[in-house]
Amino acid sequence: MKNDISIYFHIPFCIRKCGYCDFLSVPTSCGEAASQTVIDDYVRALKKELSCAGKPLKERTVKTVYFGGGTPSLIPSFHITGIIKRLREMAEFSDLPEISIEMNPKTVDEEKILAYMDAGINRFSVGCQSVNDNELKALGRVHDHEDFLKTMEILKKCGAENINADIMTGIPYETLGSAKRTLDEISNLGLSHISAYCLILEEETPFFEKGSKKLHLPDEDLEMEIYEYTREFLSKKGYKRYEISNYALPGRECLHNLVYWDCRDYLGFGAGAASRLRNRRFSNVRNVKSYINAPVNDLCEDLILSKEDEMTEFMIMGLRKTDGISLEDFFLRFGEDISDVYKETIGKFEKSGLLICKEGRLFLTERGMDVSNTVLSEFC
Ligand code: SF4
Repeated sequence: MKNDISIYFHIPFCIRKCGYCDFLSVPTSCGEAASQTVIDDYVRALKKELSCAGKPLKERTVKTVYFGGGTPSLIPSFHITGIIKRLREMAEFSDLPEISIEMNPKTVDEEKILAYMDAGINRFSVGCQSVNDNELKALGRVHDHEDFLKTMEILKKCGAENINADIMTGIPYETLGSAKRTLDEISNLGLSHISAYCLILEEETPFFEKGSKKLHLPDEDLEMEIYEYTREFLSKKGYKRYEISNYALPGRECLHNLVYWDCRDYLGFGAGAASRLRNRRFSNVRNVKSYINAPVNDLCEDLILSKEDEMTEFMIMGLRKTDGISLEDFFLRFGEDISDVYKETIGKFEKSGLLICKEGRLFLTERGMDVSNTVLSEFC
């Protein structure tokens, strides 16, 4: 039997750059930066990289595919469907593969969604961020609330069943009332999945340069109040938190992201895309032009992870999930008991009520989740 593999495609184009964004993406609204020709060249390069992937693809069964960005829904749908077609020529798919695409509400129409569905895309991830137009504007988003509602209408009309919306907290001008409005509205849309991320001021972004005061961000107390409200509200609405920032209806967890948190194998294609094959981790060059010129084997990182590195990664990624890590999985993978390797750290956090070891699993308590960065950093 072939082992499973997951595939990530990076589509690094957006209409305009949001003020907080440090993802690898180039704006199409800046003249030459990402003209249609650049997009065509990029997809050609990506298909070339895919065609050269050979062995790791032939030896595995594709279980999940994820188009991320950037804004994958910005480029013509024939490019997306063409990439899936090439992948199908290269690799065998599992019976019910999860195929996801990230979408910006400004870039969606019925024709695109139907083309996606025809090609097998069955999970749609929509960047909502907020239902309040003043907040969307302050974030620098190109869409407004009406665009988001229209996107939801189109998805429903086309029969899409597995839909995620991304929302953001800790954003400019946010109040408890505005956060409640966003949560209320999106929880009434019949979504299967909601990702709730906190805004982080990443270096080298316009938001970082501006600083929190000028951005009118909520203070720490309000941010905490919104965070707790989000968690409780979504749980009351039937969304189970299964990872620090992710909530799903039963059985609707994102299988692709679980691959990352379980440290299983994946191949990434496109500029800056990362791959992991057993203990090897490598990433493509993080520059669109360079990638177009040399899409194969131009790596900016290529590492063989030591057993210690792998154990650290397994802990840090696995503990992000609310059901944490299986002690047996750890032993099968590394031939050592988790309680021997991390005796002191586990003991310390168990004592302070941030970690629990129960029924063969080690996981963060709710309080542990609240301070996950502090706990996880101690496994490094
Ligand atoms: S749409 Fe997403 S990827 Fe594009 S600039 Fe905004 S945050 Fe970044």
